[in-house]
Amino acid sequence: MWSCYTAASMGSSARAASDTVVVGGGVIGLLCALRLAQAGARVTLVERTRPGAQASSAAAGILGPQFENEAPGPLLEFGLRSRALHAALEEELNAQELSGSYWRCGALIVGNDENDLRARAQWMRTRGLAAEFIDGDAVHTLEPTLAPVRSGLFLRDEAQLDPIAAIAALTVAAERAGVRFRIDNVQRITADQHARTVVAENNVFGCDTIVITAGSWSSLLPGLELPQNAVTPIRGQMLAAQLPSGQLHHIVGGAGGYLVPRKSGRVLVGSTMERVGFDPRTTPEAAHLLQTIAATLAPNLGTTLRGPSTEHWAGLRPSTPDGLPLIGAAPEGPGVWFASGHLRNGWLLGPATAEAITQLVLGHVPALDLSAFDPARLAIRSSLC
Ligand SMILES: Cc1cc2nc3c(=O)[nH]c(=O)nc-3n(C[C@H](O)[C@H](O)[C@H](O)COP(=O)(O)OP(=O)(O)OC[C@H]3O[C@@H](n4cnc5c(N)ncnc54)[C@H](O)[C@@H]3O)c2cc1C
Repeated sequence: MWSCYTAASMGSSARAASDTVVVGGGVIGLLCALRLAQAGARVTLVERTRPGAQASSAAAGILGPQFENEAPGPLLEFGLRSRALHAALEEELNAQELSGSYWRCGALIVGNDENDLRARAQWMRTRGLAAEFIDGDAVHTLEPTLAPVRSGLFLRDEAQLDPIAAIAALTVAAERAGVRFRIDNVQRITADQHARTVVAENNVFGCDTIVITAGSWSSLLPGLELPQNAVTPIRGQMLAAQLPSGQLHHIVGGAGGYLVPRKSGRVLVGSTMERVGFDPRTTPEAAHLLQTIAATLAPNLGTTLRGPSTEHWAGLRPSTPDGLPLIGAAPEGPGVWFASGHLRNGWLLGPATAEAITQLVLGHVPALDLSAFDPARLAIRSSLC
């Protein structure tokens, strides 16, 4: 049972097909829509401005499960699965003459706390992952323009992509797979045992399946039963500047931030974690902080970033109270699914999230244990309060 009709055509016979509606066109919505369409669903993606308008375009594009996780756990396992899926996704895009500028560049965490880096190397190797503790000379050999450090952790399997390129590629791939895009502002979800409806400003979409991928706005949608603070924004600010190409080769973490070099020589510096509600503005204080991080890690870059051509932007990461994403059935009952709250790792976790949502929607057993990400954990907590 499905229907999709514009407000203008309501009551008339003009209808278009859709049995799945994806709400929100960031990386998570685009990937879920793509995979569901490839699995045979008729998918409509409803995005209120343009695909990638929010956090997804602001991201650095690090695909770093080892870089991001300080201990083993479900997020690491999910991230490792997703990092592997990214390589396959890029091949799939390349076969269509598209690209997300995926690059298995490797990552380097530098610092002076040798014990911490040794301990991280140890648990990663125990897990069977590539992780090499190296001394300051070896760091210098890998990255000669970095400031001297005593030690580093080299993670050769970490990767990156360019979020802007990847959004463009995924949008085209989703269109080619049959996803229909609608620019509209979703205002309400209604769902019960018998019917599901997405009410937007200019359209009402009747459907079998709804997937909520609205980033930081996911738990604000009227009609949903999760508490409004199930997903809240955390602002991140970034700087970028152009260096002569070939100066930096790896993602570099340290000094409270990170550097991400593109093949073109552009280098991104990130990032802040600020609880400021839905305020998307950049601030001079953050620019100063990020310049200091860059100067500590790579003095040349610090100097370049004080120049006039430095780019500065901000985005709102979707966060959850326990820092884990929401992936699974929404509390409202059958046919409504959540894929949100990916905080600092939405790009990394996108392919595994889309894989999991597609398996759940099709009624298959997911490839990985998703219990840590079950949205019900937040609904239960709210009802106990
Ligand atoms: C500065 C910064 C750096 C980051 N770096 C990385 C990184 O290196 N690696 C990584 O993996 N992740 C990174 N992230 C995190 C990553 O960007 C996010 O986790 C990811 O983009 C979340 O994707 P999303 O699709 O859930 O949300 P979004 O990209 O925010 O998309 C949600 C979409 O829903 C739409 N929407 C909302 N409400 C409605 C409505 N009512 N009707 C219709 N549409 C609606 C919005 O317009 C938006 O387009 C970074 C984030 C920031 C801010």
